[in-house]
Amino acid sequence: MTKSFDSFNFAVETTDLTKIYTQGRSRIFALSDVSLKIKHGEFVTVTGASGSGKSTLLHLLAGLIVPTAGIVKIDHVNLSGLNDAARTRFRLANIGIVFQAYNLIPTLTAEENILLPSRIEKGNSMTPEQLDELLDTLEIRERRTHRPDSLSGGEQQRVAIGRALSMNPSLILADEPTGNLDSGNSERFCKLLRELCDKQNRTIVLVTHEKNVADWGDRCVTLKDGRIADETSREVAA
Ligand code: ADP
Ligand code: MG
Repeated sequence: MTKSFDSFNFAVETTDLTKIYTQGRSRIFALSDVSLKIKHGEFVTVTGASGSGKSTLLHLLAGLIVPTAGIVKIDHVNLSGLNDAARTRFRLANIGIVFQAYNLIPTLTAEENILLPSRIEKGNSMTPEQLDELLDTLEIRERRTHRPDSLSGGEQQRVAIGRALSMNPSLILADEPTGNLDSGNSERFCKLLRELCDKQNRTIVLVTHEKNVADWGDRCVTLKDGRIADETSREVAA
């Protein structure tokens, strides 16, 4: 049975999204005319060769860079309509981002790293009970007082996703999050994302060049030279 979505209520909508970098006299079309609609609770994986524009797309969705042309709407909000400060606030409140490098603060414990965004921006921050539940979901409750240097790579990446989830974002963006993980931890991480999507209706966009990771999504979008070259939907058991 195919998973059903509320098809009129898009979590992410891009229209002719284009990013051109200028280097000296040459222009690099990192992304060209990408139109993509992602529904609430959908798990989309983005794959493609190195240099195909995957990170550029993700950074545009996060509002970390601005498009040369085209539109990005997150929850119907046009990111181009926001100034830098408003875009940063919007990102903190609505989007959780996980990168390949875990980017944890070395002097803070696992728990403090997770709570950092809510210290910066008050809002949907967690109650102590919710924090305990999150630590359980991430299977790092016993490691909560450890600093990053005494955590394994898999544990550090789970702390990073905990930090991404701490503001309770409806959209999670991940750029090659399993790139530094062994296959066991990689699968565990993907399973966790799948659960966040299935049980909590989070929308997930995950960039990866690994086929076995891409297969965890409801839909896989393949980029080639900055354009959508292929889209495959997966039948999901209900
Ligand atoms: P991927 O993540 O699929 O490897 P990227 O989105 O990082 O691809 O890059 C797409 C293209 O844009 C590549 O040709 C890359 O060299 C170029 N590019 C990315 N970021 C920049 C930048 N800041 N300045 C110039 N060129 C860039
Ligand atoms: Mg990349």
